[in-house]
Amino acid sequence: MDKFMLAAIEEARQGLAEGGIPIGSVLVKDGKIVGRGHNRRVQQGDPMAHAEIDCLRNAGRIGSYQGAVLYSTLMPCYLCAGAVVQFGIKEVIVGESRTFTGAAELMLDHDVQVTDLDLDECASMMEHFAAANPALWGEDIGEDTGKETGKATGQDLHADQEEDKGE
Ligand SMILES: [Zn+2]
Repeated sequence: MDKFMLAAIEEARQGLAEGGIPIGSVLVKDGKIVGRGHNRRVQQGDPMAHAEIDCLRNAGRIGSYQGAVLYSTLMPCYLCAGAVVQFGIKEVIVGESRTFTGAAELMLDHDVQVTDLDLDECASMMEHFAAANPALWGEDIGEDTGKETGKATGQDLHADQEEDKGE
């Protein structure tokens, strides 16, 4: 696999280990990772702390984004696609867009080259997370599931433990 996508997946896994949403991102310039990050919305209570934003923040002021490539395990949303367009990043490589279609069109409309690797590894990571934390995932993508959200469980659905007391 692409070593940069692998680094983005490592970031996503780190986020999951922290009790957060498993989305990771790296920014590559001149063949080197100049920034990396993951979604920290739960960890920091910050709705703006998407993986790509966290990555761009961590990269700091890199000067020109010419030739920079943004990797993300998931298709960027409008917020992050907006940052890509605003900063003049011209290439985005994503792990998958099956679990979230994101804002590919916005980027394509602004001459950003978008490549979807459609990786099972990235899709299954999100599928497992969304199944275990439907309300938390809904909050992240702006879908109200009508449920309270809290910290991610990082586990599959809890099985009810029923005691069999007999007669
Ligand atoms: Zn985003």
